[in-house]
Amino acid sequence: MLVVGGGLVGLAAAAFLAQQGVEVTVVERRRETSRHPKARLVNVRSMELYRALGIDDEIRAAGEPSAGFVVADNLSSAHESWISAPEVAVSGEGLSPVAGYACDQQRIEPILCKRATALGAKVLFDTEATEIQHHTDGITARLRHPDCEQAISARFLVAADGAHSPIRTALGIGLAGEAVPGTAVSALFHADLEPALRGRWADALMARDAGAFLFARGNKADRSWQLGTHLRADWPLDDPDGLAARLVPVIRAATGVPDLSPEIESVLTWTTGAFTAEHFRHGRVFLAGDAAHQMPPYGGFGGNTGVQDAHNLAWKLAAVCRGDAPDALLDTYHGERAPLVALTVAQALLRSRKTPGQPAPDEQIDATTLALGFHYPPPGTTTPDKTATVEDPAAPSGQPGTRAAHIALAAPAISTLDLLEPTAFTFVASATSRTALALERHPVPGVRVRTVDTASIDTRHRQRWENVYSGPRCDGLLIRPDQVIAWRAPKNAANSEIDVPTAIQHAALVHSSVHPDSDRPSHSTA
Ligand SMILES: Cc1cc2nc3c(=O)[nH]c(=O)nc-3n(C[C@H](O)[C@H](O)[C@H](O)COP(=O)(O)OP(=O)(O)OC[C@H]3O[C@@H](n4cnc5c(N)ncnc54)[C@H](O)[C@@H]3O)c2cc1C
Repeated sequence: MLVVGGGLVGLAAAAFLAQQGVEVTVVERRRETSRHPKARLVNVRSMELYRALGIDDEIRAAGEPSAGFVVADNLSSAHESWISAPEVAVSGEGLSPVAGYACDQQRIEPILCKRATALGAKVLFDTEATEIQHHTDGITARLRHPDCEQAISARFLVAADGAHSPIRTALGIGLAGEAVPGTAVSALFHADLEPALRGRWADALMARDAGAFLFARGNKADRSWQLGTHLRADWPLDDPDGLAARLVPVIRAATGVPDLSPEIESVLTWTTGAFTAEHFRHGRVFLAGDAAHQMPPYGGFGGNTGVQDAHNLAWKLAAVCRGDAPDALLDTYHGERAPLVALTVAQALLRSRKTPGQPAPDEQIDATTLALGFHYPPPGTTTPDKTATVEDPAAPSGQPGTRAAHIALAAPAISTLDLLEPTAFTFVASATSRTALALERHPVPGVRVRTVDTASIDTRHRQRWENVYSGPRCDGLLIRPDQVIAWRAPKNAANSEIDVPTAIQHAALVHSSVHPDSDRPSHSTA
């Protein structure tokens, strides 16, 4: 597997693929992971995925909880709440074993890189992929490194090569959506802003006096600041020093400290839009992250959505590479992700048009629902307006295509999510499930069985357990390696209906090794 682009999404893809046992090489043309701050909000779903990779503790240590967004004349003046912490941080209270967090992208990327490498991925910096050729059985890319050029062949390619995606352009894949006018300017600077804060805290602030945003970066142990604003007509776009000089008065206005001498470390300019790629798959190439979608940064959705693309794709590529699933499984990547991406892009655009201080418009979907309440459509179906439907994650339906709900359990597992195998299907059911018993007696390769003693369920979550995993009609849930429900086992089914392999085949298009006839659990004695 070749991943082009070693940014947030490419490195996440590498880690997820390597965790699945796939041989993966990532090429990144920069010399190291990115240095200028971009994404900071890690939503609750991304934290769940980082937890499944075993890096959530490291990310928490590198960041800090988000305090929400405030609006003010400047950092020194009175602060008014704009967006409260749960919307921003996606707290996930009671809905997840983890909470959303604030950790800078440039701190997450090295953590992902280290984890991907430890899992067996090869990450090549200072290496650019050029001249990608497509064959019937794979792709070949030329790799350009300052010291050498070489060719690399792979069965599949994940294009995580960013918003300008040369690979998407070369394939002629169009973008649907609209440009967001203007050029954004972002400056990373160092300054002691405690005199402006006077013991208060604001990690994200809209400063009216400056027409700019201020973001705290790093964490208490290593604090820096970022100013985000729009390029003014007379600012020199191509002169970094000249641009930095123009930013000093804006930083002073935003902080409300007229004699501040900020030390500006770097300045980045960028344009954005609200775009979704028309196809996420072209033959053996899959677009992920900003290559597949771009959105205004409002809501902090961009990087999170990309990480979740990579997670949706990784197990499918692994299953096809192992020969456990037909190629058609890979088509479900576009089918599942594109509608949710279109909805997320529209939500980011909506937030970008909101006046600070005004209530959220009726069409605004809260960030927790977007992160946890996704409902992927069944293979082959298209939603009429091409956008996804979502459900309230506090009242999960347990339907196929939705995320397996978190149920708090007694230690050592503290969540039903901890019972799930990242590299296999997991059948989760109560200890009395006939289907679980049948599967234990007649194991199906690629399916693990985890039963839950109802006494171990946190009393606050017993009703949710009944609604989602059990109840009068459900004998347990078959859950995909990406924690998405594949099948609800019917309760009181005739023995011949307890047919997990066929359910896998239908729900996830996985076939061959997971349903050898001899292993079929067609008789249950429970
Ligand atoms: C100011 C700002 C704030 C943001 N805040 C948030 C937030 O709070 N939360 C959030 O989730 N998102 C946020 N985002 C969005 C987030 O930063 C992006 O969505 C994310 O960086 C996308 O990651 P990516 O890996 O897809 O693309 P990129 O980070 O752009 O990485 C693509 C990589 O591909 C490499 N590359 C390209 N072509 C080649 C090639 N041919 N060979 C080798 N390498 C190649 C590039 O060098 C680059 O490193 C923010 C963005 C901005 C600008």
